[in-house]
Amino acid sequence: MATSENSLAGCMLAEDVRRYYLDTMGIQVWQSLEQQPDDMETEASVNQDVIWQQLEQAVSDCTKCELHASRTQTVFGVGNKNADLLIIGEAPGRDEDLQGEPFVGRAGQLLNAMLAAIGFQRDQVYIANILKCRPPNNRDPKPEEAEACDSWLRQQIELIQPGVILALGRIAAHKLLNTDQSLGALRGKQYNYAGIPLIVSYHPAYLLRKPVDKRKSWQDLKRIKYLLNSDGSPT
Ligand code: URA
Repeated sequence: MATSENSLAGCMLAEDVRRYYLDTMGIQVWQSLEQQPDDMETEASVNQDVIWQQLEQAVSDCTKCELHASRTQTVFGVGNKNADLLIIGEAPGRDEDLQGEPFVGRAGQLLNAMLAAIGFQRDQVYIANILKCRPPNNRDPKPEEAEACDSWLRQQIELIQPGVILALGRIAAHKLLNTDQSLGALRGKQYNYAGIPLIVSYHPAYLLRKPVDKRKSWQDLKRIKYLLNSDGSPT
């Protein structure tokens, strides 16, 4: 749950307790027509919308690294801003740069199918990348580019507060876990990113080239489903 919702829930609970004591003491409470709990909830969600809009605008104005010069547009991220599952890929490719949305090419279609296999529609999760801009000719992101982009993704994670992060591929895993171990060594374990469980798995573009590893990818997806099950039971 997002922090502002937590504090809103806390606020509403405190207000209930206050009313109970005032009632018990025979003190009549006049409730302001201006700030009902429903109004507060609406206000909190409007505030969140404004923060998201400002963040997206800041990203689209970003010139922190050289990639701004060659991009068609920034690729901010897409999906449910209160998602339980946050998926982080590497960087926009050609299709994503043209359409302004992550994972819309062939790798994206496979990602959608992988999500469907564990019961998620694409719009139920949030999808973002380490980089918001396409590296020319789809080359690997340079460390200084990933570093320049880091604060955007961090802010998105802070706003979403997902239950689980899925890092897709070597570039995402290396950046988020600050390691250079091979993907084979990294997957199959559970990590922690700012208090959020993080799972590493194969990038769908790799799986298109090496379908035999889809079986291992399925194990990773099942682990995610397990982590997200509120009662903790295996799927
Ligand atoms: N590969 C990625 O890592 N991200 C995209 O958005 C598309 C392809």
